[in-house]
Amino acid sequence: MSVLMGRGEQAKKALEGGSGIDLKKIFIRLKAGQSRKVRILTPYDYVAYKAHGHYAKGVYTQPCIKVAGERCLLCEAANYDGDLVEKDDNGKSVWNSMYAKKRVLFAFVDLEEDEIRVFDATKSQADGLIATIDEYADELDSVAFTFKRTGDRQETTYSLNPIMPKKMKEVQEVFDKWDGEEVPDELFEEAAQARTTEQQAKELKQAGFPVEEVFGFEVADDENEDTADEDKGEPIAEEDDPTEDF
Ligand SMILES: [Zn+2]
Repeated sequence: MSVLMGRGEQAKKALEGGSGIDLKKIFIRLKAGQSRKVRILTPYDYVAYKAHGHYAKGVYTQPCIKVAGERCLLCEAANYDGDLVEKDDNGKSVWNSMYAKKRVLFAFVDLEEDEIRVFDATKSQADGLIATIDEYADELDSVAFTFKRTGDRQETTYSLNPIMPKKMKEVQEVFDKWDGEEVPDELFEEAAQARTTEQQAKELKQAGFPVEEVFGFEVADDENEDTADEDKGEPIAEEDDPTEDF
Protein backbone atom coordinates (compact mmCIF):
# COMPACT_ATOMS: atom_id res chain seq x y z
CA MET A 1 0.00 0.00 0.00
CA SER A 2 1.08 3.53 -0.68
CA VAL A 3 1.75 6.26 1.84
CA LEU A 4 -0.29 8.38 -0.51
CA MET A 5 -4.02 8.14 -0.55
CA GLY A 6 -5.38 7.42 -3.99
CA ARG A 7 -2.47 7.21 -6.39
CA GLY A 8 0.27 4.72 -7.05
CA GLU A 9 1.58 1.58 -5.42
CA GLN A 10 5.18 2.64 -5.12
CA ALA A 11 5.53 3.24 -1.39
CA LYS A 12 7.74 0.25 -0.73
CA LYS A 13 10.13 1.39 -3.41
CA ALA A 14 10.07 4.90 -2.03
CA LEU A 15 10.77 3.57 1.45
CA GLU A 16 13.79 1.72 0.14
CA GLY A 17 15.14 4.92 -1.35
CA GLY A 18 14.01 6.10 -4.73
CA SER A 19 16.07 7.57 -7.50
CA GLY A 20 16.05 10.05 -10.28
CA ILE A 21 14.49 13.29 -9.12
CA ASP A 22 16.44 16.16 -7.66
CA LEU A 23 14.79 16.83 -4.33
CA LYS A 24 16.68 20.07 -3.91
CA LYS A 25 15.04 21.52 -7.00
CA ILE A 26 11.67 19.86 -7.18
CA PHE A 27 9.80 21.85 -4.55
CA ILE A 28 8.25 25.15 -5.50
CA ARG A 29 8.93 27.47 -2.56
CA LEU A 30 7.54 30.97 -2.62
CA LYS A 31 7.93 33.89 -0.29
CA ALA A 32 5.03 36.29 0.28
CA GLY A 33 4.24 38.10 -2.98
CA GLN A 34 6.27 35.75 -5.18
CA SER A 35 4.76 33.78 -8.05
CA ARG A 36 5.57 31.24 -10.78
CA LYS A 37 3.91 30.70 -14.13
CA VAL A 38 2.68 27.12 -14.33
CA ARG A 39 0.84 24.67 -16.53
CA ILE A 40 -1.45 22.07 -14.98
CA LEU A 41 -1.36 18.94 -17.11
CA THR A 42 -4.56 17.25 -15.93
CA PRO A 43 -7.23 17.94 -13.29
CA TYR A 44 -5.84 15.01 -11.27
CA ASP A 45 -2.24 16.00 -10.69
CA TYR A 46 -2.36 16.06 -6.92
CA VAL A 47 -2.35 13.48 -4.16
CA ALA A 48 -3.47 13.60 -0.56
CA TYR A 49 -1.38 12.01 2.18
CA LYS A 50 -1.09 12.05 5.95
CA ALA A 51 1.93 13.84 7.27
CA HIS A 52 3.77 14.21 10.55
CA GLY A 53 5.98 17.10 11.42
CA HIS A 54 7.18 19.05 14.43
CA TYR A 55 8.47 22.43 13.39
CA ALA A 56 9.79 23.50 16.78
CA LYS A 57 11.67 20.22 17.25
CA GLY A 58 13.07 20.13 13.73
CA VAL A 59 11.18 17.07 12.52
CA TYR A 60 10.54 17.73 8.83
CA THR A 61 7.13 17.17 7.27
CA GLN A 62 7.03 13.56 6.13
CA PRO A 63 4.43 10.87 5.36
CA CYS A 64 2.84 8.73 8.03
CA ILE A 65 4.03 5.23 7.09
CA LYS A 66 1.35 3.42 9.08
CA VAL A 67 -0.93 3.68 6.03
CA ALA A 68 1.68 1.66 4.10
CA GLY A 69 1.56 -1.06 6.75
CA GLU A 70 4.81 -0.06 8.42
CA ARG A 71 5.42 0.71 12.08
CA CYS A 72 5.15 4.51 12.35
CA LEU A 73 7.15 5.78 15.31
CA LEU A 74 5.89 9.31 14.68
CA CYS A 75 2.31 8.14 15.37
CA GLU A 76 3.52 6.38 18.49
CA ALA A 77 5.56 9.37 19.66
CA ALA A 78 2.60 11.70 19.09
CA ASN A 79 0.30 9.40 21.07
CA TYR A 80 2.68 8.76 23.95
CA ASP A 81 1.78 10.69 27.07
CA GLY A 82 3.94 9.03 29.70
CA ASP A 83 6.43 10.61 32.05
CA LEU A 84 9.53 10.24 29.90
CA VAL A 85 8.83 13.20 27.63
CA GLU A 86 8.75 16.99 27.90
CA LYS A 87 5.36 18.43 28.94
CA ASP A 88 3.64 21.73 28.17
CA ASP A 89 1.96 23.98 30.74
CA ASN A 90 -1.15 21.81 30.69
CA GLY A 91 0.80 18.67 31.45
CA LYS A 92 0.41 17.34 27.90
CA SER A 93 3.32 15.96 25.94
CA VAL A 94 4.86 18.57 23.64
CA TRP A 95 4.96 15.78 21.02
CA ASN A 96 1.16 15.44 20.85
CA SER A 97 1.01 18.12 18.13
CA MET A 98 2.94 15.81 15.80
CA TYR A 99 -0.19 13.74 15.06
CA ALA A 100 -0.78 12.95 11.39
CA LYS A 101 -2.50 15.72 9.43
CA LYS A 102 -3.79 15.67 5.90
CA ARG A 103 -1.61 17.40 3.28
CA VAL A 104 -1.76 17.58 -0.49
CA LEU A 105 1.08 17.36 -3.02
CA PHE A 106 0.46 19.15 -6.33
CA ALA A 107 2.48 18.72 -9.50
CA PHE A 108 2.73 21.66 -11.89
CA VAL A 109 4.85 22.33 -14.93
CA ASP A 110 6.98 25.29 -13.93
CA LEU A 111 6.95 27.23 -17.21
CA GLU A 112 9.89 29.36 -16.14
CA GLU A 113 12.07 26.29 -15.47
CA ASP A 114 10.49 24.09 -18.14
CA GLU A 115 10.15 21.15 -15.74
CA ILE A 116 7.61 19.43 -13.50
CA ARG A 117 7.81 20.59 -9.91
CA VAL A 118 5.73 19.90 -6.83
CA PHE A 119 4.07 22.00 -4.21
CA ASP A 120 3.15 20.68 -0.78
CA ALA A 121 0.07 22.27 0.77
CA THR A 122 -1.83 22.05 4.01
CA LYS A 123 -5.37 20.83 3.52
CA SER A 124 -6.84 24.32 3.86
CA GLN A 125 -4.36 25.75 1.32
CA ALA A 126 -5.16 22.88 -1.03
CA ASP A 127 -8.93 23.39 -0.99
CA GLY A 128 -8.72 26.70 -2.84
CA LEU A 129 -6.23 25.41 -5.41
CA ILE A 130 -8.36 22.35 -6.15
CA ALA A 131 -11.43 24.53 -6.58
CA THR A 132 -9.60 26.56 -9.25
CA ILE A 133 -8.29 23.44 -11.00
CA ASP A 134 -11.83 22.03 -11.10
CA GLU A 135 -13.20 25.29 -12.44
CA TYR A 136 -10.74 25.27 -15.37
CA ALA A 137 -10.63 21.48 -15.83
CA ASP A 138 -11.81 21.66 -19.47
CA GLU A 139 -9.39 24.42 -20.41
CA LEU A 140 -6.12 23.15 -18.99
CA ASP A 141 -4.74 22.47 -22.47
CA SER A 142 -4.91 26.14 -23.33
CA VAL A 143 -4.75 28.10 -20.08
CA ALA A 144 -1.62 28.72 -18.02
CA PHE A 145 -1.74 30.06 -14.48
CA THR A 146 0.13 32.34 -12.19
CA PHE A 147 0.71 30.41 -8.99
CA LYS A 148 1.08 32.98 -6.27
CA ARG A 149 1.69 33.19 -2.57
CA THR A 150 0.13 35.97 -0.55
CA GLY A 151 0.88 36.67 3.11
CA ASP A 152 2.94 35.06 5.83
CA ARG A 153 2.43 32.47 8.54
CA GLN A 154 -1.24 31.95 9.43
CA GLU A 155 -2.21 34.51 6.78
CA THR A 156 -0.52 32.55 4.01
CA THR A 157 -2.68 31.73 1.02
CA TYR A 158 -1.83 30.29 -2.38
CA SER A 159 -3.80 31.00 -5.51
CA LEU A 160 -3.89 29.98 -9.16
CA ASN A 161 -4.92 32.77 -11.49
CA PRO A 162 -5.44 32.15 -15.20
CA ILE A 163 -3.10 34.09 -17.47
CA MET A 164 -5.00 36.24 -19.95
CA PRO A 165 -4.70 35.15 -23.62
CA LYS A 166 -2.83 38.37 -24.48
CA LYS A 167 -0.15 37.53 -21.92
CA MET A 168 0.20 33.87 -22.94
CA LYS A 169 2.73 34.90 -25.59
CA GLU A 170 5.71 34.85 -23.25
CA VAL A 171 5.02 31.31 -22.02
CA GLN A 172 3.30 29.77 -25.06
CA GLU A 173 6.38 28.09 -26.48
CA VAL A 174 7.22 26.21 -23.27
CA PHE A 175 3.53 25.58 -22.62
CA ASP A 176 3.13 23.78 -25.97
CA LYS A 177 6.17 21.56 -25.35
CA TRP A 178 4.21 19.80 -22.60
CA ASP A 179 1.25 18.74 -24.75
CA GLY A 180 0.45 15.09 -24.07
CA GLU A 181 2.88 14.79 -21.14
CA GLU A 182 1.87 13.23 -17.83
CA VAL A 183 3.04 13.41 -14.24
CA PRO A 184 4.50 10.02 -13.27
CA ASP A 185 3.17 8.48 -10.05
CA GLU A 186 6.73 7.92 -8.88
CA LEU A 187 7.29 11.64 -8.77
CA PHE A 188 4.78 12.06 -5.96
CA GLU A 189 6.15 9.10 -4.03
CA GLU A 190 9.70 10.34 -4.24
CA ALA A 191 8.82 13.91 -3.40
CA ALA A 192 6.91 12.79 -0.30
CA GLN A 193 10.12 11.22 1.06
CA ALA A 194 8.72 8.50 3.27
CA ARG A 195 11.21 7.30 5.88
CA THR A 196 11.71 3.77 7.13
CA THR A 197 10.93 3.02 10.78
CA GLU A 198 14.68 3.01 11.47
CA GLN A 199 15.13 6.42 9.85
CA GLN A 200 12.23 7.76 11.89
CA ALA A 201 13.86 6.45 15.07
CA LYS A 202 17.11 8.19 14.20
CA GLU A 203 15.42 11.50 13.40
CA LEU A 204 13.23 11.38 16.50
CA LYS A 205 16.24 10.74 18.68
CA GLN A 206 18.10 13.65 17.07
CA ALA A 207 15.06 15.83 17.73
CA GLY A 208 15.18 14.96 21.41
CA PHE A 209 12.52 12.27 21.76
CA PRO A 210 13.71 9.45 24.07
CA VAL A 211 13.23 6.73 21.44
CA GLU A 212 15.15 4.00 23.25
CA GLU A 213 13.54 4.62 26.64
CA VAL A 214 9.94 4.92 25.40
CA PHE A 215 9.86 2.30 22.64
CA GLY A 216 12.79 0.09 23.64
CA PHE A 217 13.88 0.74 20.05
CA GLU A 218 17.60 0.42 19.49
CA VAL A 219 18.92 3.29 17.35
CA ALA A 220 22.04 2.38 15.45
CA ASP A 221 24.91 4.85 15.80
CA ASP A 222 26.01 6.48 12.59
CA GLU A 223 29.38 5.52 11.33
CA ASN A 224 29.17 8.11 8.61
CA GLU A 225 27.82 11.58 9.26
CA ASP A 226 27.29 12.36 5.57
CA THR A 227 24.89 9.47 5.24
CA ALA A 228 22.97 10.71 8.26
CA ASP A 229 22.50 14.09 6.62
CA GLU A 230 21.29 12.50 3.42
CA ASP A 231 18.79 10.41 5.34
CA LYS A 232 17.20 13.58 6.62
CA GLY A 233 16.04 14.42 3.13
CA GLU A 234 14.95 17.77 1.82
CA PRO A 235 12.41 19.82 3.78
CA ILE A 236 9.02 19.55 2.13
CA ALA A 237 7.76 22.77 3.62
CA GLU A 238 10.16 25.42 4.81
CA GLU A 239 8.03 27.11 7.39
CA ASP A 240 5.31 24.92 8.69
CA ASP A 241 3.28 26.75 11.22
CA PRO A 242 3.25 24.70 14.42
CA THR A 243 0.05 26.32 15.63
CA GLU A 244 -1.89 25.62 12.49
CA ASP A 245 -4.66 23.12 13.20
CA PHE A 246 -7.04 21.15 11.04
ZN1 LIG B 1 2.21 7.91 11.49
